[in-house]
Amino acid sequence: MLFQCFASGSDGNCYYIGDYTRGVLIDAGIGIRMIRQNLRALGLDLYNIMGVLVTHDHTDHVRTVSVLANKHHIPIYATEKVHAGIDHNPRVHPKIDSSCRRTIQKDVPFEICGLSVQPFGVAHDSVDCVGYSIRGEGWTMTLATDIGHVSDHLAEHIRQSNIVVVEANYDPAMLENGPYPFHLKERIRSGSGHLANDECGRLLAENYHSGLKQIFLCHLSQMNNKPDTAYAAVCQRLTEAGVQVGTDVEVAPLARLRPSKLIQLETLSMSTH
Ligand SMILES: [Zn+2]
Ligand SMILES: [Zn+2]
Repeated sequence: MLFQCFASGSDGNCYYIGDYTRGVLIDAGIGIRMIRQNLRALGLDLYNIMGVLVTHDHTDHVRTVSVLANKHHIPIYATEKVHAGIDHNPRVHPKIDSSCRRTIQKDVPFEICGLSVQPFGVAHDSVDCVGYSIRGEGWTMTLATDIGHVSDHLAEHIRQSNIVVVEANYDPAMLENGPYPFHLKERIRSGSGHLANDECGRLLAENYHSGLKQIFLCHLSQMNNKPDTAYAAVCQRLTEAGVQVGTDVEVAPLARLRPSKLIQLETLSMSTH
């Protein structure tokens, strides 16, 4: 099984998980052309996509869902509230055909493409927001983006994962000194906004275990963060906890609009033994 991030950040989010014959997308917040281009680089096309797992109804996560559903007949998996939020999002049009809607529930696992998927609640200022814990043969991945504050639930999922994709949105000093208006700064650092680099680092350091082999830092702010800054803040917390970055675990910030390195998920679980 393969995992790749196609895009991460406020300009659009999209991830692929699957093999060279079929798979699913997590979020579809980039244009269809860019999705196709990334799939083609893997020898795939839209007809190989069995579903889109949606985290929440903000445009940078759902911009293209209705095109994928209505034109390409790809089922869209979201909680009832997220489906309603998408319906009310004026930047998503047309609306998703009812035949392509799949309603999921937090903490109720389901199967798709041979993967066991468990959505879990994440605090964020959308109508509703979930992270996903995804299990394949011998490996588990947790993905949580747009996190207002850390929950025990998220920590628990990280403790069971070989690969973690987690938000490192902003550097507090850059946000404070940056150009955003005060209300937006307050929104970002509130308990329902986004996760700071250091909060992300602490979360990872506190829940690190020897089976965790790959960490991707996602949804970096363009204005209020830099890949090196996020990386350094997270590595500092891990190092303080006695974790050797690069030996025990790989850490990589995700680019906003470029694909990440391709991860073979089975190799992560093998290296735990
Ligand atoms: Zn977002
Ligand atoms: Zn959001």
